[in-house]
Amino acid sequence: MQEATPPLLGIDLGTTNSLIAVWRAGRAELIPNALGDCLTPSVVSVDEDGSILVGHAARARLTTHPERSAAAFKRFMGSDKRFELGGQSFSPEELSALVLGTLKQDAEAWLGCPVQEAVISVPAYFSDEQRKRTCFAAELAGLKVQRLINEPTAAAMAYGLHEQQCERTLIFDLGGGTFDVTVLEYALPLIEVHASTGDNFLGGEDFTAALLQACLKDWQLAPAAIDAQALASLGDALEQLKRQLGEGPQQLTWSGAGEPREWSLDEARAQKIWEPLLARLRAPIEQALRDARLNPRDLDSLVLVGGATRMTAVQQLVATLFGRLPYRHLDPDTIVALGAATQAACKAREQAIEEIILTDVCPYTLGIASLRGEGVSGAFSPIIERNTVIPASRVQRFYSTHPQQSAVRIEVYQGERPWVRDNIFIEAFDVALPQTGAIQALDVRFSYDINGLLEVDVTLLEGGGRHAHSIDRSPAGLGAEARQASHARLAALKIHPRDALPNRTLSARLERAWVQTLGEERERIGAWLDEFNSVLGGQQPQQIAASRQRLNSALDELRL
Ligand code: AMP
Repeated sequence: MQEATPPLLGIDLGTTNSLIAVWRAGRAELIPNALGDCLTPSVVSVDEDGSILVGHAARARLTTHPERSAAAFKRFMGSDKRFELGGQSFSPEELSALVLGTLKQDAEAWLGCPVQEAVISVPAYFSDEQRKRTCFAAELAGLKVQRLINEPTAAAMAYGLHEQQCERTLIFDLGGGTFDVTVLEYALPLIEVHASTGDNFLGGEDFTAALLQACLKDWQLAPAAIDAQALASLGDALEQLKRQLGEGPQQLTWSGAGEPREWSLDEARAQKIWEPLLARLRAPIEQALRDARLNPRDLDSLVLVGGATRMTAVQQLVATLFGRLPYRHLDPDTIVALGAATQAACKAREQAIEEIILTDVCPYTLGIASLRGEGVSGAFSPIIERNTVIPASRVQRFYSTHPQQSAVRIEVYQGERPWVRDNIFIEAFDVALPQTGAIQALDVRFSYDINGLLEVDVTLLEGGGRHAHSIDRSPAGLGAEARQASHARLAALKIHPRDALPNRTLSARLERAWVQTLGEERERIGAWLDEFNSVLGGQQPQQIAASRQRLNSALDELRL
């Protein structure tokens, strides 16, 4: 009997939406969720009975129950931020684990077999700590990370199969919360990443937030003066407005704070509001080209990835910077998941793609704190420079400062600034020095693996022999106890049953539509809510499915 081969899966754990794809019969294929949709909103909500909702139902509840719902938590991955939802407290990685768990369940239902491992994509510019937290989120969801792949690199993998030419490509990836620029070269079978840069705090959500600020300013309203539900419904309406701006000037009516108010927006006004954000997109592009030693004209192609590249303002900026339009793009929403599944297949040496070899780079400089010049402390000594091809291992020699010193402190940082205080702290540890009565030499070796995770070894050259220290792979500040507690907290949660999700999602959607409308339209939606509740009470599956389909289409038509 032949052992069943585990499915080859790729996950795009996005700020706004997450997707899971499988490699089957020589190609990557998206897996639908319980609603038949391939995009699962990265939103978690705690229902009134304390059970957890993930995805579309949770997103609808962002408007109706903002204090019980959380979105865009990927932006806080690696920080100590906690989300308090309906009396329960969650870390960003716990919320991410709930999203990953839902994707895992969807894949198991679709494939009819257990799912234990996957390739997971992360923004290229994610730090060491953010990568570790992503691995921990997967662990909490019962998934082993086969490999972390940088999102733009995953996009390149998806494209790599379509094109058989040698090309220099710039991947411009603007998602909901992060911005990555990657320059790579195809010389199949090799896809070589030359440079990766970005901004972890810039994405489509910031463009919506800027509209919200501008709109409140025009209305002379302070955000603190509006209740959370009304503010969330305005944010929702502005998100819609942003997405429809490509179709022409848009008008918004909102009555969340007293009498109805109007706001209109056209492309020119939007570009004015977004000027500071658009300006921030330039620097990483320039840096990536400089690091790859290329001019814009040396590029053969430009690829746009991420939902926010659908904005006309962003497309125009790209066209101006590069003097041409990006001429090829697959669906920017799905390409990363497809590429991650392709990478899973590549790892498993699937025949169809066996010949593709991918090289990636470390997107930021890694080094340690040292003394500079006449003993000025706090200087940053790079060991692995940004955009070094990975896996990489580099060694640098350092010396103790005085003969009687009993230990040296190795402080590891990442960043591009000359002083460690301006860079990101990763870890610190002490290495004891043998008492030789002389200045000691020590070699500090950094090894950066293909997942973007760092290891540090220190070797004392005299007397101390080899002294190795590996950086702890578990997230900083999260000891075994805290990790155990996360496991226990998640295991105790009541997750909403998957097969009940289509009904629960429609109820949440109807409630949101009721909040968003007024007058006759609101009355109509109220009637639909009553109708659906009574059909649900009848417990006739066919009737429920028919009513659900009709009401979902009616809401689609009203764009609610
Ligand atoms: P991602 O994280 O790649 O799913 O990107 C999601 C981001 O894309 C969100 O900030 C959305 O607001 C944005 N987005 C999606 N579709 C559109 C659209 N048609 N126009 C403008 N922005 C969009």
